[in-house]
Amino acid sequence: MNSIISQEPVNSVSGIGPRAVSALKRLGITTIWDLILHFPTGYQDRSQITPIAELSREGEYAVIRGTISRTAINGTGKNSIFNIFLSDSTGTLRISIFHFKPYQLQQITQEQEICVYGKISFFNGQPQMTNPEFFNSHENQHSFTPVYGLTHGIKMTAMRKYIDSALAMLNSDNLAELIPENLITEHSGYTLRQCFQKIHHPDISESLLKLAEFRSIFCKRIILEELTAHQLSLIKLREMNNRNNGLAISPIPKLMNKFVKSLPFKPTGAQLRVTDEIIHDLGQNIPMNRLVQGDVGAGKTLVAAMAALTVVGNGYQAAIMAPTEILAEQHAEKISKMFESLNIKTATLLGKYKAAQKKTQLKLIESGEAGIIIGTHAIFQDAVHYANLKLIVIDEQHRFGVDQRLKLRSKAEKDGITPHVLAMTATPIPRTLAQTMYADMKVSVLDELPPGRTPIKTFMLSTEHKNKLLPRIMENCQKHLQVYWVCCLVNESDTLEECQDTENARDYLQTNLPDLKIDIVHGQMKAAEKEAAMIKFKKGETDILVATSVIEVGVDVPNAFLIVIENAERYGLAQLHQLRGRVGRGKIESYCCLLCSDSISPAGIERMEVLKESSDGFYIAEKDLEIRGPGDLMGTRQTGEMIFKAANLFRDQDLLEQAATIASSIHSNYPEHETDLLKRWYPDGETASQA
Ligand code: ADP
Ligand code: MG
Repeated sequence: MNSIISQEPVNSVSGIGPRAVSALKRLGITTIWDLILHFPTGYQDRSQITPIAELSREGEYAVIRGTISRTAINGTGKNSIFNIFLSDSTGTLRISIFHFKPYQLQQITQEQEICVYGKISFFNGQPQMTNPEFFNSHENQHSFTPVYGLTHGIKMTAMRKYIDSALAMLNSDNLAELIPENLITEHSGYTLRQCFQKIHHPDISESLLKLAEFRSIFCKRIILEELTAHQLSLIKLREMNNRNNGLAISPIPKLMNKFVKSLPFKPTGAQLRVTDEIIHDLGQNIPMNRLVQGDVGAGKTLVAAMAALTVVGNGYQAAIMAPTEILAEQHAEKISKMFESLNIKTATLLGKYKAAQKKTQLKLIESGEAGIIIGTHAIFQDAVHYANLKLIVIDEQHRFGVDQRLKLRSKAEKDGITPHVLAMTATPIPRTLAQTMYADMKVSVLDELPPGRTPIKTFMLSTEHKNKLLPRIMENCQKHLQVYWVCCLVNESDTLEECQDTENARDYLQTNLPDLKIDIVHGQMKAAEKEAAMIKFKKGETDILVATSVIEVGVDVPNAFLIVIENAERYGLAQLHQLRGRVGRGKIESYCCLLCSDSISPAGIERMEVLKESSDGFYIAEKDLEIRGPGDLMGTRQTGEMIFKAANLFRDQDLLEQAATIASSIHSNYPEHETDLLKRWYPDGETASQA
């Protein structure tokens, strides 16, 4: 076996065949390393059995043990439901199974004793469960049972098996201890391998809360290593920066003036100031490495365009990279229009292009005819040859990892010249974090919104009163305004639930607003389906778009007047602020409704108040750090923010400083460990980091 576990493909794990490989890929899992880093999103305590009569809270998860008193099939065909009535000495629970398989009918018989685990809901005061997990009542219960994030084609039991097989393959050769023991301050006393074992199969005696929040010593050990590797790659990037192999590009004020005059609006002071900072960097023979932080709607695209203009006006090319196809397409439309009057050509590479169309675009790029190239990371594939690329703009940089930054730089290097890099992000990172996160970059802040925006009115509403929104929605949709309805992924592990949550919300809205056109977008849909739904919404063909928060909502829909966020108390403030930025993109008065449960904590209310009062992304981000009451928030992955595999900057800031210290010590004293750590965490960035 390969000694670098992050290069060992998942199919070397027993039981993982081609179909599982492609399903795992959807979760970003391609190697054994990715697989063991697929941490549980929660744990089941199967040693705790709840008597049916004691079930009282809607939405709680519970283990029930009982005997099957009756079974029945209701409905016919695809929509039929298999109902099982499970009784213990205190009461009866109805279990409904949708999409059941014929073999299940045979397996589940009367008088049988079984255990189920699932989410409780109440119907006419009676407790019920939908599609729970079944298990044998005699199973070993010394450790918590892990619950994993899933995708289409992988069931929970299979995921548990894959991860267990992967864990069994770990040994001191393929999982060497790479952080010298003397550098770690809070020592767990466990090997790295044992830490992984404990994360996936914690003893019943461990704190479930700490585990669920990734705050156990086992998690911290692994997070510390990831942050250390991240710091090491920043050190590498900084070293590359100092090689003075950039190309100085002179400003061209005349062309810039002409361009600015052709715009339908006047740039803000902040846009001009930040552009000046960029133009100054471009004029040096050190490759620029600058990050522009600007709130949603601050007008980062124009800044990118002005930077690109300076480069193109000098006869070179600029590439603009967006994280998704939809955003790339949106950029292509806007940017090519901006440059039309100056006769500057753009080329766009989109996944959906047919071969011939792609070829035309590739030619434009290779010949140098296109000054500006727009697309997703596909614009850096091997087939793309630039005539003279001198500037790379990375939009929504937080969506790309540091390894991609490393890779990009080495790929784009040509004839010994490193192109200038301009990164842009709408995630305002508090200053303390920015210093560690973006230590290799200079930061510009776009701190002024274009004039004429009406601030978004934000209000809280108890989930129980959501009916009150309906007349407002109806009235405004009749005037062709639109609504986003965001469902919270309460339990990421249950993909079925993800569809169901969006479908339930859709059904609720459709039943109450039968005349409106309602569509859904969720993570389980194919990329093309998601995109089609987004495009329909953008074109105004849909009135309400029901979506989960993890999907791409980065498109500009100026007619969206309201965003409703279910279970708002479970999100981080920064993310709520981002979601809210989906509305208020036009001239219309816009609203953000935070639907909160009645059991919201005082810290939760305080967080919502921050949002009601402020629209300043930086202030909100600082507050987010301050009032993160534990227990309230969801896990990392749900928030879909940063690109770390295990770490989360907001949650793990206490480890940042230690990681920086360890990294600099490893960099000066343990060169072999440095190489190995980078290989382990950034297997793709390897060539770049060795350059
Ligand atoms: P973001 O910073 O979120 O990427 P965009 O660049 O998409 O923001 O800009 C948001 C909207 O504001 C766009 O419709 C854009 O045309 C508009 N805009 C940008 N700059 C200005 C300005 N100086 N005055 C008025 N509108 C502007
Ligand atoms: Mg943008």
